[in-house]
Amino acid sequence: MATYSAERPQGAREFIDNASPQATLSSSSESENFDVYARPRSIEEAALAMSAPGALAMCGGTDVYPAHAGRPLVRPIVDLSGINSLKGITETPGAFRFGAATSWSEIARAALPPAFDGLKAAAREVGSIQIQNRGTIGGNLCNASPAADGVPPLLCLDASVELASKDQRRILPLSAFITGYRRTALRDGEIVTAVIVPKPAASAAGAFVKLGARRYLVISILMAAAVVEKDETGRIATVAVAVGAASPVAQRLTRLEQDLLGLLPGERPSTRVAAHHLDGLSPISDVRASDAYRREAAIAVVGQALDRAAGAF
Ligand SMILES: Cc1cc2nc3c(=O)[nH]c(=O)nc-3n(C[C@H](O)[C@H](O)[C@H](O)COP(=O)(O)OP(=O)(O)OC[C@H]3O[C@@H](n4cnc5c(N)ncnc54)[C@H](O)[C@@H]3O)c2cc1C
Repeated sequence: MATYSAERPQGAREFIDNASPQATLSSSSESENFDVYARPRSIEEAALAMSAPGALAMCGGTDVYPAHAGRPLVRPIVDLSGINSLKGITETPGAFRFGAATSWSEIARAALPPAFDGLKAAAREVGSIQIQNRGTIGGNLCNASPAADGVPPLLCLDASVELASKDQRRILPLSAFITGYRRTALRDGEIVTAVIVPKPAASAAGAFVKLGARRYLVISILMAAAVVEKDETGRIATVAVAVGAASPVAQRLTRLEQDLLGLLPGERPSTRVAAHHLDGLSPISDVRASDAYRREAAIAVVGQALDRAAGAF
């Protein structure tokens, strides 16, 4: 890694030198040769840097730094924020490709079909403007928090995650990428390079509803996203709905989706949402809300997301 032309911010070495003796890099000879901080300029350089033992990818740092509050960053950091090919949204004949380092601000501003309205609404709900400017779509998915606002809308859009390591590239459906509470299918040395969304129907529309203890800068108590496509008669032809912060991993509500197919124009989808549709959820009680509150609120939040996506509010 020391051979990279990548820059190292002033103070990075000092930061580690100031750490406690236990906080120095591991004592294996390989690690001792590893610089503390690298800012590669290409995916290939990043993949090479990530092959060092214990390497930690970082993009906006809005999850990494708070997670280390009061503790030094002792792992070699591979800062992905200097890789231009990881940034931005591109359109291919069959899909939209979101570079992993695309910020939430960029997503919120992007000209995308109405099916992405839920994702754009979620982007505007991630923390504050400052967090949206730094925080990325890739970081949100890799952090794998149950309350990650990006996950429900991307599940509704049937998103996949593109991964790269020194030796391999692979693509996984998002539903297989997040495997549990703050757990992903990322292998050692792998980074997320992009989130790929198959092109939705032009007539599909999306929505996102977040429930928090206050209006702004708040971690979700619960959130729901929906994408609804209607046929030429106005009936619901396809529907996807997902709930976050009510189980270790956000979930699609497939039984509800089936029950909504064919719903007539003028009928509000929210009137069809019932408690049994939420049977697969396992909300917890925590500082933000009780499990009972989350379960009850989920019916309303899911209904609102569906009504908005169906244009029936
Ligand atoms: C004040 C504050 C408010 C917040 N509010 C919200 C909120 O309302 N909703 C919400 O969902 N989140 C919120 N967050 C969390 C955070 O901002 C988001 O999850 C953001 O999208 C993380 O992106 P990042 O690029 O900063 O991730 P980073 O902090 O850089 O990384 C997060 C994790 O992903 C890994 N990682 C990052 N990029 C890659 C990659 N390309 N490949 C492999 N691994 C990678 C890192 O190793 C780390 O484990 C908030 C954070 C703060 C500090």
